Amino acid sequence: MKSLSLLFLLLSMSCAQAQSFSLPALSHSYDAYGVIDSKTMEIHHSKHHQGYVKKLNKAIKEEALEKKSLVDLMLYASYRSKAIRNNSGGHYNHTLFWELLNPSKVKSTDEQVLKTTKSKLYTEIVNEFGSLEELKMKLNKAAATRFGSGWAWLVVTPQKKLAVTSSPNQDNPIMDVSEVRGIPILGIDVWEHAYYLKYQNKRGDYLSAIWSILDWSVVAEKYNSAIKDPLLLTIEKEHWPSLMGFHKVLAQTFHPAEKNDFEPLRKRSSELFAKAILLKTSEIPVPLMSPEILGALTRLEKQCGSLDKCVRKNAKNKTILKKIVMVHDTFHEIQGLCHN
Ligand code: MN
Repeated sequence: MKSLSLLFLLLSMSCAQAQSFSLPALSHSYDAYGVIDSKTMEIHHSKHHQGYVKKLNKAIKEEALEKKSLVDLMLYASYRSKAIRNNSGGHYNHTLFWELLNPSKVKSTDEQVLKTTKSKLYTEIVNEFGSLEELKMKLNKAAATRFGSGWAWLVVTPQKKLAVTSSPNQDNPIMDVSEVRGIPILGIDVWEHAYYLKYQNKRGDYLSAIWSILDWSVVAEKYNSAIKDPLLLTIEKEHWPSLMGFHKVLAQTFHPAEKNDFEPLRKRSSELFAKAILLKTSEIPVPLMSPEILGALTRLEKQCGSLDKCVRKNAKNKTILKKIVMVHDTFHEIQGLCHN
């Protein structure tokens, strides 16, 4: 009997492990990348990327998020802990980056490579940026002007357009914290750990060199899957800055009130009301537009107005708590409608 339960324990442990993230292997050996030296590749992959994977697995275990997909963890980054945000991005971004680097890529020009792929990417690049060279310049500029550590991106937006952007730290355009949203199909790591050993402070030299090993046929494959990916619709639905603005003030006032600290709520009830009005008049993401959403937004505004009135009248904590709980419920109703 004892050994049977031990077996079960071992089985369940191996199941839990199966849900964790792991470091992907590189397509080439560390010394094969040419313009990026062997030591940099080794440390970058086996130390930095491995570190993100380890910390991500630790964080999902601690926060009971083991069942969430990597995309889900990133999509709602503003609601997640710093550990989840940094390490889910760290894992995703580097996984994409390694796939793009191919020192044995076809030795014809990048234009020729793109023209021979079964993809509309080249046409889209010419439409959007004029030429591939101009796109590269735009990406280099985004990478060079990204202050501190971060990434430069080529993304497919929810409108299925191409856009160049950059993000700090390990953020990326899938995350709700990103200004430009979309699915990244090309990412350039501009953390110093990506180039410092060979290029030291010369980020520009690293950026010129990277193109010689960047495989555009992989970018074309990424483009083909991105334009068909339902994630684009999800991103469009989730991109609602006014909802995030409201949520921020709500979280900073409701949670203390739950713990019997009414000071933040009493100080900021009018700000919360203002955010509710702003939310009601904001541009609702097209796929979300429904009578239910509009109804809930109207209710939220009224509830926040009534809450603010109570605070002004110096009502009892018990009354105020009842009001903020209603606001909180309506907010979650709206959020639930968003995730449908
Ligand atoms: Mn890196």
